[in-house]
Amino acid sequence: MDGFMIAAPETDNEEERLAKLLSYHILDTIPEQQFDDIAELAAHICGSKISLISLVDKHRQWFKAKVGLDAEQTPRDVAFCAHAIHEPELFYIPDATKDQRFFDNPLVTGQPNVLFYAGAPLCTPDGYRVGTLCVIDDHPRELSSEQKESLMRLSRQVSNNLELRLHIREIEESGLLLEAKNEELQQFAYRTSHDLRSPITSSKRLADYLIEDLEASNYGEALRGAQKVKGLMANLEELVGDIVSLVQADVSMNDVEPIDLTELLNDARQRLEFLAVESECEIRVENACLSNVPIERGRISQIVDNLISNGIKYRDVNKADSYVDVKVSNSASTLKIAVEDNGIGIRSEFLEDMFKMFKRDNSEVSGSGLGLAIVKKHVEHMQGSIEYSSSKQGTRFNISLPTDRMGDPV
Ligand code: ADP
Repeated sequence: MDGFMIAAPETDNEEERLAKLLSYHILDTIPEQQFDDIAELAAHICGSKISLISLVDKHRQWFKAKVGLDAEQTPRDVAFCAHAIHEPELFYIPDATKDQRFFDNPLVTGQPNVLFYAGAPLCTPDGYRVGTLCVIDDHPRELSSEQKESLMRLSRQVSNNLELRLHIREIEESGLLLEAKNEELQQFAYRTSHDLRSPITSSKRLADYLIEDLEASNYGEALRGAQKVKGLMANLEELVGDIVSLVQADVSMNDVEPIDLTELLNDARQRLEFLAVESECEIRVENACLSNVPIERGRISQIVDNLISNGIKYRDVNKADSYVDVKVSNSASTLKIAVEDNGIGIRSEFLEDMFKMFKRDNSEVSGSGLGLAIVKKHVEHMQGSIEYSSSKQGTRFNISLPTDRMGDPV
């Protein structure tokens, strides 16, 4: 025979096919009884020396189960199975020495002398062929139609096992997620009941003193008491507002609509202007052509409000010109929001806790400890990402949000 063996080309949907194979998380795992049993049955039914469950990876075929062969894997360019995955039916080579594609293949001319090969594809429900169940012999031969049929049936069993494995994994993952959510909920219930109750109890007690002071015409004391109650109520109002925002962030808002971000940022600036003026901190907003951005208005508003107000709250009183810079840009279906301040910075030890509910690292400034948890929840719901950096020079948050999710379930 002329020429050289022909390596199998990549499949038409190679990238998606590989992604599907990887999603099974089966490559390089230890042998498992249910796959070994099927390989044994295939060898037995076909009377072959070798039987393999072969998965065709990017550059190799890797064997999940093997009978009569020691190798763990072989390179893809010499693999029979790499050819077999191009066919929906049985790939059948009764005599490899007579086949242009294989006659001088090192697996044919040398060990394990693949002269006979029959491979049934492992088809996923979405139509990808991730590998084969194959039988091999070191001499030319044939299979009966019953043997061919049985091999196809067994290959469907392997495919079913692969799918089952995927579903078990998904169930396990959602179980873990549920556990984490439950824990979060418990912590949330515990903290909110404590944090809501304590200012109410204190205010009640203060009100009793207030009444006593008023009855005794002790107006100076009464005034101080009333101011304390007012402070407690202001904190309580902030906490209740943040709890509502946090709960809302977890609910599907599903209100993706084209919004004018320039307007949204101006509104945010106006809302927080009083805080900025009081704190002598400048809010500087920079944006570029931001009308008609398809995104959830409520979520963006809360993200921006929380980050700007943190920038103001945690300003460095020793620095002359305190500022919070807000830069927003929208390109290539990504909305980027950067909020940077020249405040006191966040201690590196605290960085990993700062997005957790009720975690705070500043006792001088009041707060619910929920702001960054709210930001994180919104970003997660919009399938975006947050990066941050902080030092004594200040803090920067960079948020990236996809804007091509119009109509996605949130
Ligand atoms: P809160 O501001 O109510 O405490 P957050 O969740 O918004 O709650 O922030 C958590 C903690 O992270 C704050 O208590 C503060 O210690 C720190 N922090 C957040 N943003 C900044 C910032 N821009 N600069 C310095 N520290 C910050």
